Order: sequence, then structure tokens, then C-alpha cells
Amino acid sequence: MKMTPELKRAQENMAPGIITAEGFLGSDRRNLSTIIDEDGQVMRHLGLDSAEVAERLQFFMNEGRKGLGEPVTVEEEWLVQTDEARGHLACPWEDGIRRKINVTVERKESGEKLFYTDLSIHLLEAHGFLEGRGSFFRLNLESVKHVLKL
Ligand SMILES: [Zn+2]
Repeated sequence: MKMTPELKRAQENMAPGIITAEGFLGSDRRNLSTIIDEDGQVMRHLGLDSAEVAERLQFFMNEGRKGLGEPVTVEEEWLVQTDEARGHLACPWEDGIRRKINVTVERKESGEKLFYTDLSIHLLEAHGFLEGRGSFFRLNLESVKHVLKL
């Protein structure tokens, strides 16, 4: 993928202090196009489909929200907790806003946990973006596979 003006602008919006205090790239110094390409390759290697993963993340978030901040057991195997703040976050691609919802999904059997946000789901689904290396909310694909049992 080439580094288009659209991607350049999105990457600028990901810097610390623009949309969030921490930004979206962590310590990653790669071009956004490279980050997306390389994560896409890893996803294919692991047999993960971004639409399927996004759908599953959305499902767990929706179920978790029913607990109003308390942990909820989902399909017997998972414990899901959501934490909502007031307000919204803009997507760095400037194509929409998402609610400030943090989600923790724990696979009860192993205790392994996955953290993500409402915006993470959109970034994966619409842009194939998992956040940069070292970013707190970067979607770790090995964890996605293990925790969601995909
Ligand atoms: Zn977007």
C-alpha cells in the first residue's frame, strides 16, 4: 500500500495530544501504510478475518455493556467488563466518531485478557488498523486469537 495523502493526514492525527493524550502509534516509527500492510499479513498468517474479528469484538462489547460497569459472563466461557466515559473520540481518518468505551474480555479458562475500545473496532473494521507497537490499546493478534478462540 502507498502512503497516500489520506494516510499521511490520518497518521498526523494519531500523534499524542491530537485526539487522545497518548496517541495511537506508541513507539512505532513505521509509516501508517507499512503498519497496516504488515499487520494484514500477520492476520492472514494466523487465519484471522478482520470482519469476523470486528464482529466478535462488537458482540462482546454489546454484551458487556449490559453489566453497566460490572463484569458479565458471556456464553459461559468469557467474563466481559466495560467502562464508559462521557463524550466521543474522533477517528484519525476523520470519517466518524465513536463513544469512549473501554472493554476487557477475559477467557475464564486461562485468565488471558484482551483490552480494546469502541474505536478499536472501527479502526480494525474500516481501516485494518490495530494501532502502533507500544500503544496501550494495540490489538495483539495472538491474544485476539487465543482469547476469542478464533
Ligand atoms: Zn475511521
